[in-house]
Parts: sequence; C-alpha cells; structure tokens
Amino acid sequence: MSYHVNEKGYYGQFGGAFIPEMLYPNIEELRQNYLKVMAEPDFKKEFGQLLKNYVGRPTPLYFAKRLSEKYNTKIYLKREDLCHTGAHKINNTIGQILMAKRLKKTRVIAETGAGQHGVATATVCALVGMECVVYMGEVDISRQAPNVARMKMLGAEVRPALSGSRTLKDATNEAIRDWINNPVNTHYIIGSAVGPHPYPDMVTRFQSVVSKEIRLQLKEVEGKENPDYVVACVGGGSNAAGAYYYYLNEPDVKLIAVEAAGKGIYTGESAATSVLGKEGVIHGSKTLLMQTTDGQITEPYSISAGLDYPGVGPMHAHLYKTKRAEFISVTDDEAMKAGLELSQLEGIIPAIETSHALAIFKDKKFKPEDVVIISLSGRGDKDLNTYIDYFKL
Ligand SMILES: *Cc1c(COP(=O)(O)O)cnc(C)c1O
Repeated sequence: MSYHVNEKGYYGQFGGAFIPEMLYPNIEELRQNYLKVMAEPDFKKEFGQLLKNYVGRPTPLYFAKRLSEKYNTKIYLKREDLCHTGAHKINNTIGQILMAKRLKKTRVIAETGAGQHGVATATVCALVGMECVVYMGEVDISRQAPNVARMKMLGAEVRPALSGSRTLKDATNEAIRDWINNPVNTHYIIGSAVGPHPYPDMVTRFQSVVSKEIRLQLKEVEGKENPDYVVACVGGGSNAAGAYYYYLNEPDVKLIAVEAAGKGIYTGESAATSVLGKEGVIHGSKTLLMQTTDGQITEPYSISAGLDYPGVGPMHAHLYKTKRAEFISVTDDEAMKAGLELSQLEGIIPAIETSHALAIFKDKKFKPEDVVIISLSGRGDKDLNTYIDYFKL
C-alpha cells in the first residue's frame, strides 16, 4: 500500500486534477517542474536557509511534563506555533514563493478564508518583493479585520469576492479566474494540502520538514525516531501531512487526524468531513466532501476558522479509507476546554485549530510508556477574542 501520490496524481482513488480546460497550461507547467525544481541544490539551499533564519526552524520538540502527568502518558509538542507569523503555514508559502521565482513568475495570487493563509502569502511576497493579490470573500473581510490590515501592511492588495455566499469558496473561484487570465506571469499559492495535482503533493513536501525534524529530535530525547502516535488537527490537511510524512510507511507509528465536529457531528453545524463526507470533486481534486444528496457542497461550521472547510485533502481521504489514520471528531466545547487546559498546564496558548488536537486525551486512553507527538500547529493570539467571549474572561 502506498500513501504517497502516484505519477497520475492520485492517492488510491482520490486526487487527480479536475480543472477547467483553460487552466491546463498553468497546472501542467507546475506539474512538469515542481519535483525538478525542489531537487535543485540551489533551491534546497535557499529553502533551508530561509526556514532556519527567517521562519526560525527547527522548531522545538517540547516534552509537556504537566500535561503528560495529567494524562499519564508521554506527550511531546512540536512547536509550529513558534514559526514566524505563528503557524506552520509559512513553511509552505516560503517553498511556493521560491518555486514561483524559479518558474520566472512576477506576480502571486492566493485565496484566503480566515486570513491566515493570506497573511502567510503576503509575508513571503514582501520577503522577495513580489506583487501579491489576495482574494477574500466580502463577508470574511469584515469578520477578519486584523488579518486584512496585516496583509495591507505587508503590501498586498486584498480583493473582495462579491459573488455567492461571499466567503472562501467564492474567493477561490475569483482566484482561479484571475489565474486563467494571467497564466504566464502569475503563480497561485494554495495554502493547504488540497487542490489539483500537484498541489497536495507539493504542499505536503514543503511541510514534511516537520516530521523530518521530529525524527531527529525524538532520537535525541527518546533514543528512537518513531513515536507511538502522531496527532494533528485537519482542515485541508497540511500540518497533519507534514507531521505524518516520514511516518507514513512506518506501521508501528499510529496516525491520528482530528476534525472539527462543531456543535456536534449530526447537528448540521460541523466540519467532520471524514464521517459526513462523500466522494466528490472540490477545488480540482476528487476527495471526501460534505454535500447534499444532489451534490451541492454543504456549508461547514466550526468555531475555528482554519478547520471550517467542507472537504479534506486527497491524501487524508486515502488515509481514512485505508484506515492508515484514525479520524476523531472534536466539538467546539471540547476544543475550547483543551485550549484553556494547555494554557494553564504549560503556559502555551494554542490556536483553536490546534486545541482540537489537544482535546483527544479526554476520551482516548494511552499507555504510560506511549510517546505521543502533537502537532502544535499554531498560536492562539489570533483567537484571543474568541477565547475571551467563550470563557467570559
Ligand atoms: C490553517 C490552520 C490549520 C488548518 O490547516 P491544515 O492545512 O489542515 O493544517 C490548523 N492549524 C492552524 C494553526 C492553522 O492556522
């Protein structure tokens, strides 16, 4: 069984590139070049140096002593929250901006929902001095004012998507339209392990630095590269893909993917894609997605904007179908409690996305000798108002 993409761009039955004819040249250029470019010594060197000196890698693998005592197992936190801009997303945008430069692009576009990927994209465009246009639904623009301000401060243009529900899906449509109209000079930076092939594989490879580091760091502290569990929250699936990457073919390492159950899986207000999803096509790839019986995409809900996505990347759909990863759904309430708990036990305020991964300890039991790695995907600064409202702090 392979858990990596095949040469046709599929993970088992999922993946591929379901794109409008007009987009074919753009995707084909990327497909033919991405592995070649990533293998160039110059590219590797520049990527490695920026990850080190700009992003701040390697990020620590921190033994969470008090959390471990509470749940009677050995918990390590992979501190992606300490990356520049506060989450793992920058690993991918750094990789893609260097890819854009190698492909001689002079302009970058992106779409964003909550604004986190927009900020990570605007950041790397400022870093290399590239023109940056971020599409964002008009509704999201008014809900996410601080991130809109960040993008503008970084020199990006934020263009409102005015059609449909004026949220992420509409911003994605606008970005695709832009790319069709600007195929030669523009690179489209997708922010998670989603989209048409080769995006899911390219994003996963850029994020794989996370598990590469975990192996070395764990060897130092535990004398072995393999933990018993790797746990990550899943929106589109990029932080999970990066944390799993070097463990995919290590059957003794159990993988746990945590999805947002919102107000409860069956309440109609959730983003538990694996449980509720059916096979379909979203953002150019065949995967599991939440849809009505006649194939309309269902609006997802989660208290966490980063997990509020109706699909999941094709690699994760495959990991679910093959049972390589165990999928667990966590509600808003459970996540918020876990976020408060980590803050008070370890002095680390996590992003609400990440709090979902931390909530598994309440129900799932681990052995005292188990080594459990949690991908601490981001920090909670952006979520303070949500925490304040929820806990009446
Ligand atoms: C965006 C985001 C996620 C969800 O995205 P993935 O691609 O599934 O990783 C998770 N955690 C944080 C902190 C995020 O910003």
